[in-house]
Amino acid sequence: MDKEMLKYFSGALNRQLMEALPEATGMLPGLLEAVGHREPMDEVDFASMHSSRELGIRIHRHHHMRVREILAAIHRLSEGEYGICVECGDEIAVDRLKAQPVTTVCLSCRRHLEVVSRRGSHRKRRAAS
Ligand SMILES: [Zn+2]
Repeated sequence: MDKEMLKYFSGALNRQLMEALPEATGMLPGLLEAVGHREPMDEVDFASMHSSRELGIRIHRHHHMRVREILAAIHRLSEGEYGICVECGDEIAVDRLKAQPVTTVCLSCRRHLEVVSRRGSHRKRRAAS
């Protein structure tokens, strides 16, 4: 991915973060720093990160996952891993990233994962009955 595209997605992710978390305006450097050595973050980590840093951000429960996805994407961007499928290591199509900047898998892996999870739930249902 070239610098222009990285800049584009950095901007897109920042906008998404501000939409999901208006209180985070101007706090991104601190958040990025915190994300850098706290991965993967679970809910407790996320909560303690906020209270310990006294960022004063109120995370609404329904925003929580969204914010975490965006922060993870920003982290991948800073690590130079952005746009690389976590399943197969291929580059994710730019069109797909533009539609879904927080995505971590390419389209074929996404489809594969959907099939696998569907099969898994069928199996579970059958075992239960
Ligand atoms: Zn893939």
